[in-house]
Amino acid sequence: MKPNSNLTKKIIIALILGIFAGFALNLFAPAAFSIIDKYVLYPLGQLFLNLIKMLVVPLVFISITLGVAGLGDPKKLGRIGVKTIGYFLVTTTVAIMIALGVASVMQPGLNGNFDTENAQFEATEAPPVVDTLLNIIPTNPIDSMSSGNMLQIIAFAVFIGLALGVLGQKTEGIYRLVEQGNEIMMYLVNLIMKLAPYGAFALIASAIGKQGWEAFEVMGMYFIAVMIALFIHALLTYGTAVSVLGKMNPIKFFKGLAPAMSVAFSTSSSSATLPISMETAQKNLNVPKSISSFVQPLGATINMDGTAIMQGVAVVFIAQVFGVDLSINEILIVVLTAVLASIGTAGVPGVGLIMLAMVLKSVGLPVEGIALIIGVDRLLDMTRTAVNITGDASCAVIVTETEKKHGLDEGNKNVSA
Ligand code: ASP
Repeated sequence: MKPNSNLTKKIIIALILGIFAGFALNLFAPAAFSIIDKYVLYPLGQLFLNLIKMLVVPLVFISITLGVAGLGDPKKLGRIGVKTIGYFLVTTTVAIMIALGVASVMQPGLNGNFDTENAQFEATEAPPVVDTLLNIIPTNPIDSMSSGNMLQIIAFAVFIGLALGVLGQKTEGIYRLVEQGNEIMMYLVNLIMKLAPYGAFALIASAIGKQGWEAFEVMGMYFIAVMIALFIHALLTYGTAVSVLGKMNPIKFFKGLAPAMSVAFSTSSSSATLPISMETAQKNLNVPKSISSFVQPLGATINMDGTAIMQGVAVVFIAQVFGVDLSINEILIVVLTAVLASIGTAGVPGVGLIMLAMVLKSVGLPVEGIALIIGVDRLLDMTRTAVNITGDASCAVIVTETEKKHGLDEGNKNVSA
């Protein structure tokens, strides 16, 4: 038995207990819930979240630097980079198509009374895509780290890693330092994960206790449509990709990744889950450190298939509620903007909904429609985040398999051991 299968069990039990506790408190003891939430659930959940978030910036910087340096030669970096980004783009496009398909069949916006009169939503401006792309290169890397700008941190780490890889012996001291930094990060991830069952319980019970059944009564069909599309994508797209391209039994894949998926589910944040998803991919799915360190942080930042699915279903739902017919052209625009929105979505809770404003605007749908789906978004956010990180891990497995023919070496060849 793998050492952390016990922990996985504990987290899953905590999730189930949290769901029950949340619903029970919401139904039978709403007054007690607000006190319990304020003094127990919320602080405990935040404590766990803050502890893992604390590691994200140093971990992303250290692991990408090490990963890129470990690849050693820039050609290999280019090859893995192209495969990774190509896979992300293709799977995200497939995800939106599945979402559009499921939503068109289920027609979630055609049944039920939706209060469109009172629907109000202040759209926060989503950043223009060109700016997002240009801003990838940080003009001040220290600033990027202090503000937690992931894409910029990744870009800076890629440059530093590239230099370390090329300079080899000359920068051995710094390479070792980064390597030791990585040891410290991994030790801390393990330590914090011991708290995961308690954190997961508190986060779930708190989220469900606040929402209760009510939110689902009207939004049931939308909710179910997003869930179905998420499951189809996770099982079919990733399952097939992992077994055909990654030569791995999908059951082994999903079982191995379960601890990370359950943490993603309870935190609703790909970034916060990153330390755990990397560790699980390396330990349970045999992804070498150098590949995991490059693919997964990049994926947690730019690859959000689950989010794209929610956006696809939401577009169809809002169009139906507001009685708008989307043309084929508009559907193509939705696919394109949802791919871009998925790249621009930060891996933190709820951002997918803000980026949805950009997708709605691209085809002239009312942004106020977001107000209708906001009530059920938290639970969907949990599930789509689990799908988001599964996509990243499936990519890491596939890149590992396809790199085998080039030789999978761990660590920096240029640096003497
Ligand atoms: N919570 C998602 C994530 O971190 C992003 C979103 O869809 O809001 O992956």
